[in-house]
Amino acid sequence: MPSLLLGLLSLRAIRSESVQRQFKQKQRQRQIAGLLETDLKGWLFSPKLNGAVSQSLLRFTIDDSHIVFPDFRFAIPPERNATQVPFASSKRTLRNKEPLNEVDASLDARTIENLYYPRIQAFLRDRDLGINSSAQYFLRLKAMVVQFPGTHNGYVLGSSQLMEYAKRRLDDLTASEDFYGVFLITSPGGLAESALSGAEVVTLNDFAFFRVVFTSKESGGFSFQKNILLYSITLMTLVMILGVVFMYRAISHEMAASQLKADFVSAVSHEFRTPLSSILVLVERLDSGRVSEGDMLRRYHHTLRQETRRLGVLIEKLLDFAQIQEGKRKFSFERVNLAEISAEAVGLFRESDQAERLEEIHFGPATPTYVLADRTAIVQCMQNLIENALKYSPSGSPVRVRFGRRNGTPFIEVLDQGIGIPRREQKKIFEKFYRAQNARGLNVQGTGIGLALVKRIMEAHGGSIAVQTTLGMGSSFSLLFKKPLEE
Ligand code: ADP
Repeated sequence: MPSLLLGLLSLRAIRSESVQRQFKQKQRQRQIAGLLETDLKGWLFSPKLNGAVSQSLLRFTIDDSHIVFPDFRFAIPPERNATQVPFASSKRTLRNKEPLNEVDASLDARTIENLYYPRIQAFLRDRDLGINSSAQYFLRLKAMVVQFPGTHNGYVLGSSQLMEYAKRRLDDLTASEDFYGVFLITSPGGLAESALSGAEVVTLNDFAFFRVVFTSKESGGFSFQKNILLYSITLMTLVMILGVVFMYRAISHEMAASQLKADFVSAVSHEFRTPLSSILVLVERLDSGRVSEGDMLRRYHHTLRQETRRLGVLIEKLLDFAQIQEGKRKFSFERVNLAEISAEAVGLFRESDQAERLEEIHFGPATPTYVLADRTAIVQCMQNLIENALKYSPSGSPVRVRFGRRNGTPFIEVLDQGIGIPRREQKKIFEKFYRAQNARGLNVQGTGIGLALVKRIMEAHGGSIAVQTTLGMGSSFSLLFKKPLEE
């Protein structure tokens, strides 16, 4: 689930990033289309620049409602039908004297009359009706009729000149962009825009015929779309892989947890069964009346006491653990002397067969160290640590209890010369039900809740528990307290 969420979030992030990128690109493209339009207007309407004019096919002037073609010295009155022979202003025949360019050379009176004249007329009519501004494109003629604003002068410009100019300008304007623009002349609505899906089509504001189609410079055109698809596929694959990994981890974690619980139940049953069965055997023997010797009787009673105590400790441990787990454990903090607490804990083992292994050491200055603590809880922590130290070290090896202050921090620690704990398990041993591999291998009894209990108790004291251990050499577990109280 978290991976899916992660995936969806990144997909959303990529999408929103791409949407933002697209938005910025569109803005830039519209800006460029605007710049092109300004250039185009300058080129078309500024006689001073002489750009479009020098390339025009045909110049005309409106002379007293007559359309006059000064370069050809003839004019056509507006009321004339286009099919009629043009009316020459000075001469009746076309004087193709000063052609403006090579194309113009092919112009003759008939072409002008049939092709250009009706369009110029239409242009003037539309202009008077306010339909167009000072320029109009005629698709079939492949030419544009332009009139210089505020003058009677105009000209006709062929589409190839127009295209050439627009292309040059567009190339310049998009030189440093990651897209390029294609200048198109189409009738409004005449462009199958669906065929250009992914490309941005911008219609120039004052020239409904002119459009610029912007496409990505990356290979294959419109590759941003392709990239998005690629991103999405890669991301989805990643999400799936992550999902499988997370699922695997969650399942194996779940399995490990249930394995731990199962181990715990069997460990607890085992811990109960062992003292119970020895109690049962001893009681049966005593009942039979066969044990009468004083020494033997004393030994039986001693063992019975020990086993019962063991059961009591176990039950208390389980109840404490349950209480702490539910957050119900109440602590009553008081001023306690570390030396007293440590002596009390060690005292609990006085009657056990391991008693002689225990050693108490005062660390640092002889002044007593007082801390604010729940006496019973700390004694319980010590008891757990001492039991472990005895359990996980060879019989006969010493177990030391040391207390005092180190760098101002009050501490009590239990040191042994036992089996130690592998490095990768040193953190896990404080988790509930966890038992290290080497301990399980030794077939040492335990429930895996002792250290978890100690950890919670120390946290409730604002302190902590630390371990220093070397595999096969021994361990030291330290209860670290917040700060010492004034003496
Ligand atoms: P357990 O009931 O198994 O002793 P604990 O929570 O007290 O449970 O300890 C957890 C695990 O930490 C033990 O199973 C053991 O693997 C390891 N451990 C604890 N104390 C020692 C120690 N003194 N030396 C080596 N290993 C220890």
